[in-house]
Amino acid sequence: MISFNKPYLTGNEIEYIKDAVSRGKISGNGYYTNLCQNFFQDKYNFRKCLLTTSCTDALEMAAILADIKVGDEVIMPSYTFVSTANAFILRGAKIIFIDSRPDHPGMDESQIESVISIRTKVIVPVHYAGVACDMDTIMELATKYNLVVIEDAAQAIDSFYTGKDGVKRALGSIGHFAAFSFHETKNIISGEGGMLVINDGRFTDRAEIIWEKGTNRSAFFRGEVDKYGWVDVGSSFLPSELNAAFLWAQLEKLENIQNRRKEIWNFYFDELSHWCKTHDLRLSSIPEYATNNAHMFYIVCKNTKQRKKILNHLKSSDILAVFHYLSLHKSKFYKAKYTGKELPFSDYYSDCLIRIPFYYELEKNELQFIISCLKSSVN
Ligand SMILES: *Cc1c(COP(=O)(O)O)cnc(C)c1O
Repeated sequence: MISFNKPYLTGNEIEYIKDAVSRGKISGNGYYTNLCQNFFQDKYNFRKCLLTTSCTDALEMAAILADIKVGDEVIMPSYTFVSTANAFILRGAKIIFIDSRPDHPGMDESQIESVISIRTKVIVPVHYAGVACDMDTIMELATKYNLVVIEDAAQAIDSFYTGKDGVKRALGSIGHFAAFSFHETKNIISGEGGMLVINDGRFTDRAEIIWEKGTNRSAFFRGEVDKYGWVDVGSSFLPSELNAAFLWAQLEKLENIQNRRKEIWNFYFDELSHWCKTHDLRLSSIPEYATNNAHMFYIVCKNTKQRKKILNHLKSSDILAVFHYLSLHKSKFYKAKYTGKELPFSDYYSDCLIRIPFYYELEKNELQFIISCLKSSVN
């Protein structure tokens, strides 16, 4: 049986967890948390990083920091994970869903301006498959209409965007905020885990307070205040040192992990390109301005029938491929509330996209087996 995902351990995870225990402080915001946060800040030019217990939590923190109130409008793609929307729904926002691009499941930036209203507060670009949204367009709209941009960078670790100015920037360093995930299905993992990036200096102090249950505990530990107390709203968003220790073992091997994943991605791409062209199937297309961080490998079928046929064929060969994201505007929870227009490309990716097995430890013979099963499923 070839599973869809298998969490990869670099080898030092348990050792660092043991070390965290022996340091005598296993709650959050300690030695390993700092190592991880500094690593990200230095490597990707993120202004301030706070580890969180998930990307979902990081998005919820961003929604609080952006001061989302009942009736505020938040623009995002319909083709995304539920947490992208839930974080804002929890604060009473109205979600304005945008269609996907014809050439890519990411949101169609050209449709954003037409849905901006006086109630719009936030745009959430989701870097689907780690491929950058057109951030110049999005940031220009944010400036023009005074909006906050929260990048859902859950899948986008170690991926980049080159803007019109020719500067290559890490995804997560461009918006006012960004949220990353270290869930076991992502490139870099800690079981459940995430991170909020705060790039706008206006929000950094408050972010720390919300992270620490609404107290100024972090400032207290730095010696900036002589006692700590309740100063704002907040919650318990920080992970324990055990999670951070695990994450640190992953970050030490980030380059190695990324190289292997790119190798696998390129192997799939080279082997499947011709077959796809001749069978009405599409592979990922990566815009000039984006890099590929090898988060996932997907194929877009010509219709649901073809997808079903391929998935069944793979299953009968003990290969687990999956699809995901029923358009959120058509979900059980949201469809009665949805008053916008049809989103045909979001529906198209919901109906036609397949993700094939993708993880560090996939062996060459397994890759070849998957490829040959795919090719024999449609002829
Ligand atoms: C995985 C994912 C999330 C949620 O991440 P968690 O860490 O599981 O909360 C949010 N958005 C997108 C686009 C994702 O892929």
